[in-house]
Amino acid sequence: MPGITTKDEFNKHIKKVLIDEKAVQEAIARAGAEISREYEGKPLLLVSILKGSFVFLADLCRAITLPCEMDFMIAKSYYNSTESSGDVKILMDLEHDISEYHVIIVEDIVDTGQTLSKLIPMLKERNPLSVKVVTLLDKPSRRTAAFDPDMSLFTIPDLFVIGYGLDCGEYYRNLPYIAEYNTEEGVCSDV
Ligand code: 5GP
Repeated sequence: MPGITTKDEFNKHIKKVLIDEKAVQEAIARAGAEISREYEGKPLLLVSILKGSFVFLADLCRAITLPCEMDFMIAKSYYNSTESSGDVKILMDLEHDISEYHVIIVEDIVDTGQTLSKLIPMLKERNPLSVKVVTLLDKPSRRTAAFDPDMSLFTIPDLFVIGYGLDCGEYYRNLPYIAEYNTEEGVCSDV
């Protein structure tokens, strides 16, 4: 059900711009160039973990100058109050048999690290040629699982951020920059 229908309501939750559009695009151009150097001559599959990474994937794939294929997956972490580590379930799986590919997981943000620390071993069981993780944002101060991405474009402090694919109650994914969410004006449903 739609929750935000006016521009005023939308804008009042945008506290401040943390990473502007130019900085995001410049970092993606550098990451794309590095991936293009590293994977030349290799069968490459970019795997986007939905929904948050779809904007990043769209720009990153266009900064990569090699032939590559794309696939999508939805994975969710489930926690209960007595456990610090949760369970990860694949809600939508890949179409590709990844055993013939070098896989790059494209992620929006690594926060506690729980999701990817469980998902990567599940994908490795399918015997890909290699698996690496590139994330747009990394919040290392929040880590509760032993996991670090292979490439991170920006390290950010412990703030709830929105924009460039990252949502709050499904809104704000379409901002072309990364912003801090204003919790003083109310909290979104999934914080
Ligand atoms: P974790 O690393 O804790 O397993 O989970 C990462 C997921 O939590 C991300 O893919 C993202 O969906 C969500 N997440 C973590 N931090 C933030 C944040 O600051 N803003 C938004 N919108 N989502 C976040």
